[in-house]
Amino acid sequence: AAPDVPALEGRGLVKHFGGVRAVDGVDIAVRAGTVHGIIGPNGSGKSTTVSCLTRFHQVDAGEVLVFGDPAPARPWAVPSLGVTRVFQVPHLFEQQSVLDNVLTGMRRREHYGWPAAVLRLPAYRRRDRESRAEAAGLLAFAGLAQRAHRRAGSLSHGQKRLLEVVRAVASGPRVLILDEPATGLTGSEIEALARLCRAFRDRGLAVVLIEHNVEFVMGICDAITVIDGGRVIAAGAPDEVRGDPAVLEAYLGH
Ligand code: ADP
Ligand code: MG
Repeated sequence: AAPDVPALEGRGLVKHFGGVRAVDGVDIAVRAGTVHGIIGPNGSGKSTTVSCLTRFHQVDAGEVLVFGDPAPARPWAVPSLGVTRVFQVPHLFEQQSVLDNVLTGMRRREHYGWPAAVLRLPAYRRRDRESRAEAAGLLAFAGLAQRAHRRAGSLSHGQKRLLEVVRAVASGPRVLILDEPATGLTGSEIEALARLCRAFRDRGLAVVLIEHNVEFVMGICDAITVIDGGRVIAAGAPDEVRGDPAVLEAYLGH
């Protein structure tokens, strides 16, 4: 795609739940090589906006474009376009090791089928070694190296959420969507999360960050969309958004 085509774009998104206008005409354009924050008060429509973008919800109106092409209406087709969402609640394989959880994420992008795996062909073994090294590297980057061989179920809540992000990164998406990833994380875990997001962005990929922790968002994002009452009330660089009267009103007025 041309460099100026957004990685992920929503135009005029509308989603009603009965009488509730959860998303009411949202425009958002997420560029490759950026961390894009979505902030706003509780219940303002952030998660629903993302659910429209990933086709988790059918929209009542509007368009979704992935790298300039209309996104298929079926939600299961969206991950194959390289758009991966990490939900607020971790869904790990708790009985498996931390490392195996990451490898599970990576196998999805490998081209060797089960015959190569079962027969342990040389190409498969080499690829397996590379995958393990890459997974271990990612875990070290996230500050989880010491835990690689523990059961995922033994991790703290914050570590589980970080592992969920590592696993999503390992699956090789082009757009990574994180819904309030910093909730319940310690200071050093938030730093690890920020490191992961920056590394991901610096590889030319896009991160969409729905976040409640405004300090974290302001520190890491290249662009921010502020939503209130299902509408975009401000959008731009963190410094532009920070001083916007509508944003101050949304946060202080509630
Ligand atoms: P946020 O993520 O900003 O906290 P949401 O997008 O989750 O907000 O919710 C926006 C509004 O839509 C809220 O009023 C919420 O109660 C409502 N809503 C969200 N999901 C559903 C649903 N599946 N069914 C009915 N109402 C919903
Ligand atoms: Mg939400």
